[in-house]
Amino acid sequence: MSDYKIETKCIQSGYQPKNGEPRVLPIYQSTTYKYDSSEFLGDLFDLKAAGHMYTRISNPTVEHVENKIADLEGGVGAMLTSSGQAANLMAILNITSAGQNFVSLSAIYGGTVNLFAVTLKKMGIEVRFATPDMTDEEVDALFDENTRLMFGETVANPALTVLDIEKYANIAHSHGVPLVVDNTFPTPILTRPFEFGADIVVHSTTKYMDGHATVVGGVVVDSGNFDWTKDGKYPELTTPDESYHGVVYTENFGKLAYITKARVQLMRDLGSSPSPIAMFLLNMNLETLHLRMKQHSENALKVAKFLEASDKVEWVNYPMLESSPDYELCKKYMPNGAPGVISFGPKGGREAAVKFMDSLKLASIVVHVADARTCVLHPASTTHRQLTDKQLVDAGIGPELVRMSIGIENADDIIADIKQALGE
Ligand SMILES: *Cc1c(COP(=O)(O)O)cnc(C)c1O
Repeated sequence: MSDYKIETKCIQSGYQPKNGEPRVLPIYQSTTYKYDSSEFLGDLFDLKAAGHMYTRISNPTVEHVENKIADLEGGVGAMLTSSGQAANLMAILNITSAGQNFVSLSAIYGGTVNLFAVTLKKMGIEVRFATPDMTDEEVDALFDENTRLMFGETVANPALTVLDIEKYANIAHSHGVPLVVDNTFPTPILTRPFEFGADIVVHSTTKYMDGHATVVGGVVVDSGNFDWTKDGKYPELTTPDESYHGVVYTENFGKLAYITKARVQLMRDLGSSPSPIAMFLLNMNLETLHLRMKQHSENALKVAKFLEASDKVEWVNYPMLESSPDYELCKKYMPNGAPGVISFGPKGGREAAVKFMDSLKLASIVVHVADARTCVLHPASTTHRQLTDKQLVDAGIGPELVRMSIGIENADDIIADIKQALGE
């Protein structure tokens, strides 16, 4: 399957019907599974046999979608979760315990900032933020012997800074830890972080992967490339798990050690599993991901160029604009186009931003991005409301910043709506 091009994988990867089976991925709406012998079930519980035990841990519908996403990212395995937040939580908890820490770029999603700086802190896990003003030496100095991973977003939501994946993968690896990348905005259509050295990829599938604002979900994808045994830093993967009669994940599951542990231990215990029917919808929407991303990218570039030329606009931030400080990084990591999210500041500050949003007719105000429909949001008063001024600055968000998620309507109609709302 993996030899196909990405467009073909969107359609064909994952579910492969055998003779006489349904052509379309069936919804296995069953919490439970039937066995011929209790001995077989015992082997399942000991992880000696492969199969489904209970839908909290795995389900055939969900598994087919996991295989599709793993194939799209070029990974060895994936685990879908009930939300993007759950995916980030699991990706970190899987290899980090109380008393340990991890380094994260500061330009990340507001919900992730809260998860890292508030909730994980209460659990005894410390996040150390690498802010944009830091030199590489200062970033290096954030790591110590208790650091277990580095985290960043390929294209930060909503700062839209582009992560230099290769550079940060090298930094993480020089400290013996993996780079975990949230690839929600580009999706594997625009860039595949594993090809640049990232080790684990997470997504909020709620965004472009679903793309129709219907289903909340998340996914953790394992490249299978990180050597967990090298420095003795990950005993949870390299020494016996007593909750599974002494299974050693790296010995029993090889390249699948990380993602297997995430499922059989964390998903078992935390239970943030997605529902089969929701993942059926996600799968259907994934079939058009390649078409949608192309249109999002094309439309957004047209809108960004229009905004840049408008005298009602103070500044525009879109990584595919030549004026963007991240243009070179964007071309390197996303040669076929950037995601459809633009941020800009109308002239007149916070007040002008609010007036602009209230005047839009086609674009709607929603707490969402990456929808087929054009939508708009004012982060400083909504998604990033809980952040302090310093955190706002570190996340690259000013009071006038408007975040627009450009849909897949006709670009001329989107631009006409923006034009009238700006009073041009
Ligand atoms: C939305 C988002 C999340 C959180 O995902 P949910 O599905 O809303 O829980 C995490 N990371 C990024 C980059 C996001 O855009």
